[in-house]
Amino acid sequence: MIRTCAAFLFSTSLLACSASLQTPKESEERPNILFIYSDDHATGAVGCYANSVVASHAQTPNIDALAADGMRFDRAFCTNGICAPARAVVLTGKHSHVNGVPDNGASFDGSQATFPKLLRASGYQTALIGKWHLKSTPTGFDHWEVLPGQGEYYSPAFERPGPNYVEGAPIAEGTIERRRLPGYATEVTTDLAIEWLEQERDPAKPFLLMVQHKAPHRSWMPGPEEHALYEGQQLPEPTTLFDDYAGRADGAKTQEMTIARHMWLWYDLKVRSAQWGLADGEPILDGPDKWAQGMEDRMDEAQLAAWDAAYQPRNEAFAAGVRSGELSGAALVRWKYQRYIKDYLRCIAGVDKSVGELVTWLEEHGLDQNTIVVYTSDQGFYLGEHGWYDKRWMYEPSLQLPLVVRWPGTIKAGGVDDHLVQNLDFAPTFLEAAGLKPAADIQGLSLLPLMRGEEPGPGAWRESIYYRYFEVGIHAVPQHYGVRTERHKLINYYGLDQWELFDLELDPDEMTNLIEDPKYAETRERLKAELTRLRTDCGDQD
Ligand code: CA
Repeated sequence: MIRTCAAFLFSTSLLACSASLQTPKESEERPNILFIYSDDHATGAVGCYANSVVASHAQTPNIDALAADGMRFDRAFCTNGICAPARAVVLTGKHSHVNGVPDNGASFDGSQATFPKLLRASGYQTALIGKWHLKSTPTGFDHWEVLPGQGEYYSPAFERPGPNYVEGAPIAEGTIERRRLPGYATEVTTDLAIEWLEQERDPAKPFLLMVQHKAPHRSWMPGPEEHALYEGQQLPEPTTLFDDYAGRADGAKTQEMTIARHMWLWYDLKVRSAQWGLADGEPILDGPDKWAQGMEDRMDEAQLAAWDAAYQPRNEAFAAGVRSGELSGAALVRWKYQRYIKDYLRCIAGVDKSVGELVTWLEEHGLDQNTIVVYTSDQGFYLGEHGWYDKRWMYEPSLQLPLVVRWPGTIKAGGVDDHLVQNLDFAPTFLEAAGLKPAADIQGLSLLPLMRGEEPGPGAWRESIYYRYFEVGIHAVPQHYGVRTERHKLINYYGLDQWELFDLELDPDEMTNLIEDPKYAETRERLKAELTRLRTDCGDQD
């Protein structure tokens, strides 16, 4: 499949002024881009990262194979660790305060420049399948079919353009078509992606295909093939599962995202007939079956029967443990952690199979050599570290992203990169890979030099990253911004007027706040100055 430059050059006249041609070689074949994006997948749950107590239990052979054939980025981070903001950063290559999506409540302004739009204008065929979560309808795609809002795990509804749809126009009657598809979201999303590749892909054009999974987002509902995984096993616990947050800023003490006190027994942990208002108390059993009520219009009879066959014996054992008094206090927290981490890893196993199916499809159709395959997630997640689930904080488990990229011929197999990279970098990377010059207002850096294994010269790569979390209210995580270097992290909880400083080399679990430690006075002042510089540079002066 040789793509000549004629169509390419013609179509560049359609380019918006925010990207320009970079003189690609006459016969250069532009790469396809397969961007596989999961939701809340921590590096701690990717086998090849091997950086958590459960990593060796994660069933991620296909993601690990991508890394083995390509490159694993060991210091990849988000700029704002929640779903919608991260997605807006990926599309634009710009920080939240610039792209207009600081929190999950904001609607993405689809009229702004995005890399899919620019790729499409330059002759790429563009498609998006799965989770979108940006409120406005997608722009820049020749084809899209997305989960409304957070989407559902079972019998998910999908939305796509209807007959009267006009890109960018306000949503009106008949512009959006909604259909419910039987099955499990990860599998349905994969099937829709392969269906697009087989039926709608234009072989005369390079493609961008974004496959965006709901999994492993809360409430971590595994697919039918993964119900039995880890059955009978006891998975290891993080050493900080019973963190008391001593010595850290007040936000860590007042947050509402603990496995112990804030997980819902019926919704998160699927204990049918359990009450959800657990807080500090013991579980109340024999309540209304809220879980089943929630599943009534989601699971068909066969799905529900398969689910119950796996979960009801476990739930009965749980109820017996509660009634006997065995499951209370720390034992109850440990039980919740086991249920949570197993369901989370079961969802990951499903995502990994999707990666395998998509890569296999490329191989079977001779497209694997000229396709950049990226696997990443919108942000990380707490797998019981600090006693938590969820994300949002600038602490490592949610700040860090899994990022593996395979691109035969450009990336040498088995590469590991430890430069500081961010989700800001996807847009300029994809634009440059397509022969386009990223616009000057893009705030990320192209990863291409790193992918080629080049060592950027002194001053040619960032030595620190800027992070800011804006959302108010949810899980009571205080707003904060901060700077991370290779070794240190400084966080300012500006609403609380409190700071945290961590030495990641000596304290990778971020348990000791060094902000008042005289030995770190110089580091603290240097990082404060760096934070000010970063805020000025990216224009976040609010
Ligand atoms: Ca997310």
